[in-house]
Amino acid sequence: MKEACGVFGVYAPGRAVAQLTFDGIYALQHRGQESAGMAVSDGETITVVKDMGLVTAVFDERTLSSLPGHLAIGHTRYSTHGSSDWAAAQPVYRPVGRSGFALGHNGNLTNTTELAERAGMLPGMVGTDSDAVAELVAREYPLDSPDPDAVAVDDLRDALRVVLPGVKGAFSFVLLDANHLYGVRDPQGFRPLCLGRLGPVDRPEGWVLASESPALDVIGAAFVRELEPGELVVIDETGVHSEQLYPPEQVEPHLCIFEFVYFARPDSKLYGREVHGTRRRMGELLAEQAPVDADLVMGVPDSGVPAAEGYARQSGIPYGQGLVKNRYIGRTFIDPDQQARMNAVRRKLNPLRDNIAGKRLIVVDDSIVRGTTTQAIVGMLRDSGAAEVHLRISSPPFQWPCFYGIDTPNRDELLAATKSLPEIERFLGVDSLAYITIENLKAAIDTPGAGFCDACLTGRYPVPVPVFINRTSGPEEAPHGAPPVVALQAALPGV
Ligand code: AMP
Repeated sequence: MKEACGVFGVYAPGRAVAQLTFDGIYALQHRGQESAGMAVSDGETITVVKDMGLVTAVFDERTLSSLPGHLAIGHTRYSTHGSSDWAAAQPVYRPVGRSGFALGHNGNLTNTTELAERAGMLPGMVGTDSDAVAELVAREYPLDSPDPDAVAVDDLRDALRVVLPGVKGAFSFVLLDANHLYGVRDPQGFRPLCLGRLGPVDRPEGWVLASESPALDVIGAAFVRELEPGELVVIDETGVHSEQLYPPEQVEPHLCIFEFVYFARPDSKLYGREVHGTRRRMGELLAEQAPVDADLVMGVPDSGVPAAEGYARQSGIPYGQGLVKNRYIGRTFIDPDQQARMNAVRRKLNPLRDNIAGKRLIVVDDSIVRGTTTQAIVGMLRDSGAAEVHLRISSPPFQWPCFYGIDTPNRDELLAATKSLPEIERFLGVDSLAYITIENLKAAIDTPGAGFCDACLTGRYPVPVPVFINRTSGPEEAPHGAPPVVALQAALPGV
């Protein structure tokens, strides 16, 4: 399991934009740990630095101080499909027009093959879906311009206006050319993107774009607002210019509900709500929905902790810590082999035996995907002498793969897609298991009228998805009669 990417952009003449971008993408590290990169413009030249690894491994002070400029974009990447190599690291750069342009992408497109064909790319040339978009945008630049300065002014915006309406699926893009910073969200707004301001309201000193609001906080920028689905903002010395790229009937907000469940940082603001509070409320509603008598409520660190606090508060059962997490280990790839996954979980989590032994535990976590981690955790709690283990999950059963920016296994590897509740209880070794209902999940988020993508939980895909290819059982029709838009699309890399 891997997760979505993080994007960041800053326009701030007179400030150390490379350092600000470093701080911004460091705050978005949880959204992607495979590669990190930034593109910095000094008004003439765009310099791109990117490499495999964590933000702190890719950038040091020397590198950052060698990147002067007044605007920059940054990216942390986790691939949703396909290879994870240097060539796929972002930002993507294209040397067109006066300065070229660079692009960073969070999301996953559903018509990459079609886009690549339209861009005249041969199958071997398509690295990622972001490459296909960059290629299409580059092709919209005029070959010759009588006035080189005029080219720099509008070419990228004009190209985006032409290309983006044909791009399907999930995208929050940040882009730059020599003197402009751009941010844009797909018309469903699957992935988040927000705008921040440096300096006072009446005298802004700069503007910031970020996947999540904590990236604004860490550089001292004020949160201004979330970008609207389908909105393009262009930021330059004259300020922030906004336009809606799509007709109203095509704008259908579907923010990924899993951002609230798991992906986003708890201190992020999405749909005007601080995520931590929504997770605590999920736990409260779960306690009402699925009560059980027990001695201690504990959360699986870190993602299960806020909901566990809520469960404890609502049930009146004491909250306590049952597992200690090694804070130096990031998200780990869990091997499907039983011994290997026990080792991986042991490396990351260690039980507090005195808190656990002889106790009836309520264990709260945000989600079960394959069930491999969860099974290993339950085993560890049993080994530490837990009398009973009652598992409570603050998301409904995860049953459908995501095609919009989250790397998920094939459907036949999703525990809840292949097993009944009693079978899952047996597989995990728990005394009882309950998932929050989709109604309670939405009630906890409490944004009446706001649209969500909950395809992973319901199978309702708001944008048609391709035929997906199950490794073990072969091709499977897309659910709910969604037309197979691009056969084999699922085999193409995404970001
Ligand atoms: P498992 O028991 O192996 O299915 O792992 C479930 C745990 O992995 C959840 O409790 C989350 O903390 C975490 N998780 C959920 N979705 C993802 C994802 N897309 N990528 C990485 N970790 C995830």
